Amino acid sequence: MSIQEKNFWATTVDSPAVATSHELPDSVDVAVIGAGYCGLSAARTLAKRGVNVAVLEAETFGWGASSRNGGMALTGMKLPVPTLMKRYGRETVRKMYAASLESIDCVEQIVGEENIDCDFSRCGHLEVACKQSHFDGYEESAALIQREFNHELRIIPKKDLRGEIGSDIYFGGMVDEISAGLNPARYVAGLAHAARRAGACLHDRTRVEKVEAASVNGARQFLVQTSRGAVTAREVILASGAYTTKATPALRRKIIPIGSYIIATEVLPADLARELSPRNRMIYDSKHFLYYYRLTPDNRMLFGGRAAFFPETESTVRQSAEILRRGMIGVYPQLRDAKVEFVWGGTLDFTLDVMPHAGKLDGMYFAAGFAGHGVAAATWLGAKLAGLICGDPYNIPFDGIPFSAAPIGLRSGNTWALPLAGAWYKILDFFT
Ligand SMILES: Cc1cc2nc3c(=O)[nH]c(=O)nc-3n(C[C@H](O)[C@H](O)[C@H](O)COP(=O)(O)OP(=O)(O)OC[C@H]3O[C@@H](n4cnc5c(N)ncnc54)[C@H](O)[C@@H]3O)c2cc1C
Repeated sequence: MSIQEKNFWATTVDSPAVATSHELPDSVDVAVIGAGYCGLSAARTLAKRGVNVAVLEAETFGWGASSRNGGMALTGMKLPVPTLMKRYGRETVRKMYAASLESIDCVEQIVGEENIDCDFSRCGHLEVACKQSHFDGYEESAALIQREFNHELRIIPKKDLRGEIGSDIYFGGMVDEISAGLNPARYVAGLAHAARRAGACLHDRTRVEKVEAASVNGARQFLVQTSRGAVTAREVILASGAYTTKATPALRRKIIPIGSYIIATEVLPADLARELSPRNRMIYDSKHFLYYYRLTPDNRMLFGGRAAFFPETESTVRQSAEILRRGMIGVYPQLRDAKVEFVWGGTLDFTLDVMPHAGKLDGMYFAAGFAGHGVAAATWLGAKLAGLICGDPYNIPFDGIPFSAAPIGLRSGNTWALPLAGAWYKILDFFT
């Protein structure tokens, strides 16, 4: 079979996964822009609590990063804990770390309650050290996390690494048993079904073109203009992630859209798959320009990385296949003859401070900046925003931290400087 420029996960989902609602309503309590984990989780929670909610999706449900990712529901955040402690202080970081653990519980609970057939498994994650200095830092991180958050990480010295990974290129590893793996496309399709069952209206191929403040009978509302007509909403949730458009400029200015690419091999023999990943972990390495990889439930090696920094296009996807294949063979020489059957790309929503953010912008609720940690965090923050709208007490640790706009040249719609950022991270990887 030759290589297909296609998302492997999408081939595991019935199509169309979820039927669209027909008529766009004139008015709703809440309009959600974007049908990924964040928007659909928010819609599910709102509908379950009796709120009249419509999800407006420009493409198909789950079309964005939510159906294309590595399917790793990881503990912690993108930045290392010592960096977070210096930046935000102990109490805030404690809440953030607790939120990261709660996020995975939230996914597990939804999968269980809604019977979502997405191969959710608490298989744990393995971070592998590309340099001795990175491995030396693991001891410090694990001790800090144990002390501050009472959460246990296990250090794996190089001599024991073969019990975790069939590769000899790393200097050691660190395991967190709490992280989970899932099939992202089936999970997002399941979330859409769940939101629909709860009573949310889901509208695909409905692109939001403009959001304006409006006054209806003296009450503040939003007029949401879409490609299929206008909807008036009491509240709006922006859940458009890396694909945020100029319809919501205040959020768009803050998003740095960065491409990430994945290949998947042919189905591997069971004994080879076991050798590559004996404990079936979600694996990533310690570089800035990192590789992340895992087995799929049918024993393909799924291998991802930032092969190009630009958001996905036909040409970046095509070029990524060979770059990632070389990376994969560097880690696993055993895969030299394995056929690569799929390659695809997606866009990550980074922010200047590499942190998730949530709260209100221009009077609208939003959550964004998940980078490579959105499977669990976007689900959790979607549900949290819904809770705030329903009157739950404020308890989101990612609100209120400084949230700067991205520099021109890196921000959505104007990304000419992204290759410079990519080059900078490569230099950092060389020297640190
Ligand atoms: C290749 C790749 C690998 C990744 N791997 C992992 C991983 O292993 N683990 C992890 O935790 N995270 C990973 N991530 C990140 C994770 O997928 C995202 O953080 C998460 O899916 C974000 O969900 P979301 O709902 O915020 O956005 P999305 O799923 O991107 O959904 C946003 C939706 O909004 C819609 N939209 C945008 N603008 C409009 C508009 N104007 N009108 C209507 N609709 C609009 C888009 O069409 C899109 O469908 C990865 C991402 C990529 C791209």
